[in-house]
Amino acid sequence: MADALSTCLLDGALLPTSSARISPFDRGFLFGDGIYEVVPCYGGRPFRLPAHFDRLEAGLDALGIHNPYPRARWAELIQALITANGGGDMGLYLEITRGTEQGRDFLPQPGMNPTIFGFCWRLEVARPEQLERGISVVTLEDIRWLRCDIKSIALLAPVMLRMEAKRRGADEAILVRQGRLAEGSSSAVFVVNDGRIATAPASNERLPSITRLVVGEVIVALGLPLEVREIHHDEIYTSDEIWIASATREVMPVTLLDGRALGTGKPGPIWRRVFDEYQAFKKREAA
Ligand code: PLP
Repeated sequence: MADALSTCLLDGALLPTSSARISPFDRGFLFGDGIYEVVPCYGGRPFRLPAHFDRLEAGLDALGIHNPYPRARWAELIQALITANGGGDMGLYLEITRGTEQGRDFLPQPGMNPTIFGFCWRLEVARPEQLERGISVVTLEDIRWLRCDIKSIALLAPVMLRMEAKRRGADEAILVRQGRLAEGSSSAVFVVNDGRIATAPASNERLPSITRLVVGEVIVALGLPLEVREIHHDEIYTSDEIWIASATREVMPVTLLDGRALGTGKPGPIWRRVFDEYQAFKKREAA
């Protein structure tokens, strides 16, 4: 990931990233008590912002954290942050914690003022040789909690899982819970078998990925079939293609699964069509 750009957002104000400070008594720091969003921005515009607002609001509601701004104000702050950092293609991170107390009590005080932090970084588009090569994944048992639908800042399990994937030489971990495919450690997953594309349904075991939604729209626009259903662990080994999807990695083909070539060992033809159409969607919406 590229470094943070020079201007960040803290509690409603833009300031130099290097001078941003928050209290160590922030409940985000002490308890991981907060949520975050990652919004890809193309041509200086946030992509699919309403869907990110839907997820952000659902997360705040689930945690009982006060949402300090209406959508219009959020949109203004986000645009100001993008513009202050020179626009173009970037990733934008937003974090909202329950706020700061004077001590440390599991039970939060009522009426706390949330802390809001935002920063951006330059998006690195996947190089053609990376797309030619695809990515390597390993399957791991899902050790996360049972509210994976909340985009919680408490990310210790995904950090451990990603470290384990790296230790095994892979770029991402595909997580399995009770024999079913959950999702990637930080991505949604699609599998293709005999031309039929499948992705697992929304549930408390998965983050409602915005990229998954967009990829779903792309699939429909291409007139391809999409099944939304549970995917058995065994099924992924016999898949012709697997893709991972996330805001900053878009849709990437898996070519190596648990150390063995998947399908032909090359990015699949259906992935290529979906990837190309995804790029067209981005361009159209940024224009
Ligand atoms: N699933 C998990 C667990 C994630 O952490 C992420 C992204 O970080 C995703 C899925 C993909 O979500 P999105 O498409 O909104 O980036």
